[in-house]
Order: sequence, then structure tokens, then C-alpha cells
Amino acid sequence: MSLLVVGSVAFDGIETPYGKVDRTLGGAASYFALAASHFVPVRLVGIVGEDFTEKDRAIFHGRGIDLSGLEHAPGKTFFWAGRYSQNMNERTTLATELNVFANFRPTLPDSFADSAYIFLANIDPTLQRSVLHQVRRKPKVVGLDTMNYWIERTPAELREILKHTQILMINDDETRQLSGEHNLMRAARHVFKMGPKTLVIKRGEHGALMVHNRFLFSVPAFPLEEVHDPTGAGDSFAGGFMGYLASTGRVNEQTLRRAMVYGSVLGSFTVERFGVERLTHLTRREIHARARRFAHLTTFTL
Ligand code: AMP
Repeated sequence: MSLLVVGSVAFDGIETPYGKVDRTLGGAASYFALAASHFVPVRLVGIVGEDFTEKDRAIFHGRGIDLSGLEHAPGKTFFWAGRYSQNMNERTTLATELNVFANFRPTLPDSFADSAYIFLANIDPTLQRSVLHQVRRKPKVVGLDTMNYWIERTPAELREILKHTQILMINDDETRQLSGEHNLMRAARHVFKMGPKTLVIKRGEHGALMVHNRFLFSVPAFPLEEVHDPTGAGDSFAGGFMGYLASTGRVNEQTLRRAMVYGSVLGSFTVERFGVERLTHLTRREIHARARRFAHLTTFTL
């Protein structure tokens, strides 16, 4: 099953209590693609600048990630920098330099136009909509992420793309902001009226909650002794979730529940190391072993 992701490819500067890197591969689409590629081949659409070298491209090589939709433009690649607090619960953004990303107009290569599973990572909702216009037949699943900036600045455009979205994956603050409801269950009901019938609320160290109009499912964050860098956890969660779902070819309660677990598994591996490093040194065996540990972690009898 073909899985397409559209979103940022970036260089990140990251500071956490465990260390500091000045420039490492990042961006939502990078984390998503590397996580999802453990399940299915991935098609990536994004933009990078002249400073993005063959060495950077090579990180995606040999993993079934098709980069024919990665545009190289004159100028510099999107740069983002952030610093985490001592307990890792807060993040201060130190720099957001859009560079070539400011003029990003996603263009799908012809060979991507039949994509059945699509993830629209956090970008301008108008651009997210333009991606769906370029798809030739109705996708099986459209997943979408967004952020406070778009909820505040482009509410009408966001409403429009939500009408075409089946699975909305956002964090708890964004859920409250989008719905105007503090209670997450009431917020979900509000979201269902906008289009998506599945809401996945990412809650960082508290795991993730899936609210479907017929059932609820909750998954914890994997209890790790050391979190080195939380960057990209949400995007890796989305990659594990959509990758697993696409690998089954079926969307039902059982596959959605398992997708939540694989999302949490991939998110938990990402935060063990800086940047995308852990995702690039990860085996299927490790993924399935951790999924089994999730099963043990959450099973009980009454
Ligand atoms: P997360 O930790 O899930 O918030 O994702 C972090 C990734 O998002 C980093 O690798 C950044 O390069 C990327 N990022 C930061 N700000 C933006 C933005 N405004 N638009 C798109 N991607 C961004």
C-alpha cells in the first residue's frame, strides 16, 4: 500500500540536558518517513536548499523512501532550533528560519498521484489542500497534523482541509484550541463535526488517546529510563501509526488500536537518541519486541 507524506525537511539545532547538536537532519516529513519506512515504502514530498548534500540524502537511501518528490531549490534548507528544560517538559524555540520552505508549493510527481494513504504533516492548510487536489483517485486514508499557528491564523482554510481528513493527529493543547472545549471528550465530538471521524491526541510523556465515534483507546508512552531528545516524537508516532495502518491495508477498530501501539513504539525509540539517529538504527525485531512489551504493560484481568 502506497504511503505519501508531505511536510518539512529541515536542519535542526537541539539542546537538551544530555547534550547539544548544532545541525542535524530533522523536519516532520523526515521523522515520519524514517519511522513509517519500517512498515511500508514511503513517498516523500518536501523542499530543501543547496546546503542539503548527497550525505544528507543518503540518510534516506536503502530504506524504501522515494525522494523523487523532494525538490532542491536555490537557497538554504529550513532551519529550526530549540532548547529543552531540565525535565524536558518545556521547549523554547530559539530559531525558525523558513528559507526555501517559505516558497514551498508541494508538487506531486506523476508516480505519486495514486497514493492510497496520505499524511499531511504540519504545513499551511492551503498547501495541504493542494496536495489532495493532485491525487488522482480518492485516498483510502488522509491523516493530518497542524499547529496553533494555523489554528489561529487560517481557521477557514483549516476547516476546509479537515472536511477531507479521516484521522486528525494533534496534541492536547491544539485539540482544545481547535474545538474551543477544555474537556477532551467534548472536544472530540466537536472535531467530528468538522470532518475527521478519528481523533488521535498526542500527549507526550502521557501517551496518546484515540477517540473514534464508536470506541476509545488509550496507549501509554513507553516508560524509558532516559529520554535524550524529544524532538520528532510526534512525527515518528504519526509515521509508526500510518505506516502500520498502510501495511495492513485495512482500517478497522483492531488495526487502529494496533496503529496506536506502533505509533507509540516508534515515538519511544526516536527519543532515545538525538535527531533521527535511533530511527536509522532500528530493526523490525526491536520494533515488534517493544510492541509486545506494550501488550504486557497494558494487559490485566478483572
Ligand atoms: P515535533 O518535535 O514533533 O514538534 O517536531 C519537530 C520537528 O518539526 C523538527 O524537526 C523541526 O524541524 C520541525 N518544525 C519546527 N517548526 C516547524 C514549522 N513551523 N513547520 C514545519 N516543521 C517545523
